[in-house]
Amino acid sequence: MSAHFHRDATPHTDWCVRDHTCGLAEHRGRPIIVAPEAGGRAIVTRVHAGDREYAAITLRVPLHRSASVAAAQLGEVLSGIRNLLAAVAALRPGALGSRPDQRALGRRSA
Ligand SMILES: [Zn+2]
Repeated sequence: MSAHFHRDATPHTDWCVRDHTCGLAEHRGRPIIVAPEAGGRAIVTRVHAGDREYAAITLRVPLHRSASVAAAQLGEVLSGIRNLLAAVAALRPGALGSRPDQRALGRRSA
């Protein structure tokens, strides 16, 4: 066993697939495929690694044959990914369901 790469085994999660795709310290959910009629395809997999969780995304976006259109489409891809990451990061425990009363937060105590 290598001392440099040793990771302690972690238990399976409630949602991981519990098959060969789980490693000692990494657990993976069942991949979810998104394939809209407009084209393209994304595979989203929930992953628990170490003490963090993340969504691993493999995204395939068809590009137009025209170089200029393809360049514009790539710009849209980058913009969309930035927006996606910002929207996901903005979701915090307080943003779900029981939103704090904004008026109460803005009210000064007398
Ligand atoms: Zn697992």
